[in-house]
Amino acid sequence: MTTSRPSIPAERYRERLAAARDLAREAGFGAILVGVGADMRYLAGYPAMPLERLTMLVIPTAGDWALVAPRLEATPARSCPPAAAGFLPVVTWEEADDAHALVASMVREATGGERPGDESGGLRIAVSDDLPARHLLRLQERAPGARFELASPILGRLRIVKDADEIALLTEAARAADRVVDQIAHGRLVGRTEADVAREVRERLIAEGHDDAHFAIVGSGPNSASPHHEASERVIAAGEPIVLDIGGTIDGYGSDITRTLWVTGGDPAKGPDERFRHLFGVLHGAQAAATRSVGPGVTAEAVDAAARGPIEAEGFGDAFFHRTGHGIGLEGHEDPYIIAGNREPLREGMAFSVEPGIYLVGEYGARIEDIVVCGPDGPIALNEAPRELYVIDG
Ligand code: ZN
Ligand code: ZN
Ligand code: ZN
Repeated sequence: MTTSRPSIPAERYRERLAAARDLAREAGFGAILVGVGADMRYLAGYPAMPLERLTMLVIPTAGDWALVAPRLEATPARSCPPAAAGFLPVVTWEEADDAHALVASMVREATGGERPGDESGGLRIAVSDDLPARHLLRLQERAPGARFELASPILGRLRIVKDADEIALLTEAARAADRVVDQIAHGRLVGRTEADVAREVRERLIAEGHDDAHFAIVGSGPNSASPHHEASERVIAAGEPIVLDIGGTIDGYGSDITRTLWVTGGDPAKGPDERFRHLFGVLHGAQAAATRSVGPGVTAEAVDAAARGPIEAEGFGDAFFHRTGHGIGLEGHEDPYIIAGNREPLREGMAFSVEPGIYLVGEYGARIEDIVVCGPDGPIALNEAPRELYVIDG
């Protein structure tokens, strides 16, 4: 475990809150209301529990922002970095109060009865995309006449580009996951169930510094051809591949790595067959080509095409049936999606997975996944574990 873990300085939250408010004002909103989740964590560093009680970041575009929290959570709310540093006042409500009416009145006061917004003159309020319906519907009742819209066009623009501290956290998480892959590849696998190996993966992710172990896909034999296979009670046998796709979070920032192993059980006759070696070679080339293609101005769909081209050229096009990647940050899957049709040009600081796979359903499959950051002049792969096929005794 490392002791000098990277972190986001408190001042950064003030910058993010101000940037969100300015973008919302330009877009004609009267306020942004952010519920518990990744958006709140991004803007306030507050990983609040998603409860039925309302916790909400209220960001009026013409007034002071505040964090509204139930009184019984005053202590954690006040200890989030911008609140502790004095940039974010915390307004608490009592058990019997109408918290939604409180938020509506704060917005009304900040907008001064004036109605910034569209030509129809209505107050426009942006809400975080994952705000539960039970909160949104009550807010709508307490703010009659206001128009509620999604905040993702504003907050997504900020979150899609990672700053140096966020990249440091993603790197820390990636390296920790790399070490777990190495440890698993050096341990015993043959004769154990996938679920047992997955349990070990989760323990090791935590031991290597993750706060949470979110997933451990262990797909052995024919299960390696099912991209989202969860670990099962299947017993791993010598002479088959294992797709290992694992990840967790460090301070909210995710790791996500896939490597493909082949276990021989120590029997040289049980190594990968010719077809698998060929399939893996094609995949390896495709993953490298897609990573190499990354750079500022390159579209997300061009990276997908760079992975798909070599796979299709070898006749495996139909066996690569998912997008090439997804953005990663405070959410495991977020923008930008590396997929055909996404013409968004990559910008420096975007972070996403590059994870082509080839799956011969019912037989076997392989995937290689790295987290890649778009650097100023090209790709920066955060994962460093070898990308070759791990032919191991297991
Ligand atoms: Zn996935
Ligand atoms: Zn993955
Ligand atoms: Zn992934």
